[in-house]
Amino acid sequence: MSRSGELFDRARRVVPGGVNSPVRAFRSVGGTPRFVAEGRGAYLVDADGTRVVDLVQSWGALLFGHAREEIVAAAVAAARRGTSFGAPTEAEVELAERVVEMVPSVERVRLVSSGTEATMSAIRLARGFTGRSGVVKFAGCYHGHSDALLATAGSGVATLGLPDSPGVTEGAARDTFVVRYNDREAVRSVFEARGELIACAIVEPVAANMGVVPPAPGFLEELRELCDRHGSLLVLDEVVTGFRLGPGGAQERFGLRPDLTCLGKVLGGGFPLAAFGGRADVMDLLAPEGPVYQAGTLSGNPVAVAAGLAALDLIGREDPYPALERAAVSVADGVADVLEARGVPHVMNREGTLLSLFFSEGPVTDYASARAADHARYAELFHGMLASGVYLPPSGYEGWFLSAAHGDAEVDLVVGAAAAAASRW
Ligand SMILES: *Cc1c(COP(=O)(O)O)cnc(C)c1O
Repeated sequence: MSRSGELFDRARRVVPGGVNSPVRAFRSVGGTPRFVAEGRGAYLVDADGTRVVDLVQSWGALLFGHAREEIVAAAVAAARRGTSFGAPTEAEVELAERVVEMVPSVERVRLVSSGTEATMSAIRLARGFTGRSGVVKFAGCYHGHSDALLATAGSGVATLGLPDSPGVTEGAARDTFVVRYNDREAVRSVFEARGELIACAIVEPVAANMGVVPPAPGFLEELRELCDRHGSLLVLDEVVTGFRLGPGGAQERFGLRPDLTCLGKVLGGGFPLAAFGGRADVMDLLAPEGPVYQAGTLSGNPVAVAAGLAALDLIGREDPYPALERAAVSVADGVADVLEARGVPHVMNREGTLLSLFFSEGPVTDYASARAADHARYAELFHGMLASGVYLPPSGYEGWFLSAAHGDAEVDLVVGAAAAAASRW
């Protein structure tokens, strides 16, 4: 048995499903998850010593690949000065200033430790600000695992094909109005029917948890208008898109001005760090300035903040986006060409540096079309490419993530592995 297999058996005796987050368990692709021994740049080495090109990159958290020297050095230096204080530090102020500078709509920002906390807190704040309880969310969008936001969620909820999760009370789900992504008509009707109940709409500006689904032209703009017209806040969940689509995220790319923005993943440089921020008049309702409570023992953790600052520094110094987008185009085109040549129906969705593949005959524009894709074939591609040394996300409902460490050689390995996998079809 492989070392990963042994570790998985051991894990399952003490950890539910053997993993600490469901998609890691390979349920939708089958087989045994690879336990990771180490990561270097674009590559992972598993517990059996096998080296693979990694297109997961900690689910998009790593913009500069694994163990990037500047980020590791910053974290180590910070840890030597103390790993947690529960008191404010200069570095937190610096990180907040940097976020305000880089993300166009953010005037004030609060640091938290996970994207789940960021979206959950943003929703509470929107409710506190408007005095309303309704939340509009879109089917297939994932905003972490808080009760109000689990309805028809993407990511692991989609991967496991779960109906709405047990443990979420009717009360918590009742105020969530789920609407089809990219369906302007449907959003219009929900606002017309219950506008005065809606505290906020929350949306992934580029959906990246049902696979990658870009916004249809006018969709986000109309959502902005509807929120304005009905006195609701627009919460942009940029946990994936922030600092990945560009330094100012999707809002900069699309010229959109949300009231609140959620950030995470890239922001922490691979450490547990996330944030929510936005309009000063809304953010200042947070305790201790205002009555909306939100807190965290490890919020603004100095090690995570140092890593995050180092990542944002690298963004400023190296402008990784043009090269990232070239790599994304090369992977998208290369893999699409391979499938085209074999006559395999497919859709390669890409928005800037974000991409993913669906085995679908028609366009994938929402959760229904993402689900209708052939996920069994995705599992075959996953295992075929893994056998050739490329680690795709172990689910067809996740984005393929590149990093600044993925050069031409890695792009060629990815396309070559796809060709090897597809040669059996
Ligand atoms: C990953 C993700 C979250 C949740 O972040 P965690 O750090 O996993 O809690 C929220 N929103 C989006 C868009 C995400 O991709």
